[in-house]
Amino acid sequence: MIKLTNVFKKYNNGTWALKGISCSIRQGEFIYLVGPSGAGKTTLIKLLTCEERLTKGELQIGNANLLHLQEQRIPLLRRQLGIVPQEVLLLDNLSVYKNILYSLQAVEANRKSMKQKALEALELVGMTAYQHALPGDLSQGQQQKVVIARAIANRPKIVIADEPTGSLDAKSSIEIMRIFYQLNQLGTTIMMATHNSTIVNTIRYRVLEIRNGEIIRDQLSGNYGLPS
Ligand code: ADP
Ligand code: ADP
Repeated sequence: MIKLTNVFKKYNNGTWALKGISCSIRQGEFIYLVGPSGAGKTTLIKLLTCEERLTKGELQIGNANLLHLQEQRIPLLRRQLGIVPQEVLLLDNLSVYKNILYSLQAVEANRKSMKQKALEALELVGMTAYQHALPGDLSQGQQQKVVIARAIANRPKIVIADEPTGSLDAKSSIEIMRIFYQLNQLGTTIMMATHNSTIVNTIRYRVLEIRNGEIIRDQLSGNYGLPS
């Protein structure tokens, strides 16, 4: 469902962040993206979400060909993706529940179904009890759960997360992984960039290791590999 063939990305300042990446990802897979800082993980994620456009190569998500995808079609593609960005960005003056409703407004016309989806997402991440809280009153781990609830509320087939446990303690990290595990069990494809070697080595899934803009390892049930 995701296919990259010889994908290159050059930034405007001349940096080649990705240099010929190829791989295929099937529906329902769980993939860790690992590699040192500056390897190209975030760039790869940004190409998938169309936050950045690839420079050359082929990048297919479902039926969409991202090299030639018209700008006005990008929102439609994004609706099929659950995006958990590196920075937690919740609206501080809206309750947890309203944060999720707000993001659903763009994609869901039916008010009743919108509310139902928001509540279901909060339930899945175990944050129902906090639906009326403001983001500022929550711990970082709880905020991350809300960000995930917001990303999955529209029931995307693919969830893409950039270091979702990056700023969390071990306990919260495990809770986030439990949520991703559940989502994956429901058939959702998960791709997460991470520096968390303990998680990668303990909860084994396919590992894509990127160094210097190239995939140097693609291993089923892989480990984190050598420290960078
Ligand atoms: P990480 O290693 O955690 O992915 P980085 O420090 O590499 O984070 O990058 C943080 C952010 O800054 C990313 O959004 C990245 O796209 C951006 N960035 C990194 N390097 C540059 C650069 N040379 N010029 C502009 N933006 C950059
Ligand atoms: P990672 O996520 O693995 O840390 P990135 O994808 O953020 O790696 O960065 C890959 C390379 O691209 C790095 O050399 C980084 O400095 C560069 N880079 C990232 N974002 C930008 C940007 N917006 N402009 C220029 N260079 C960038």
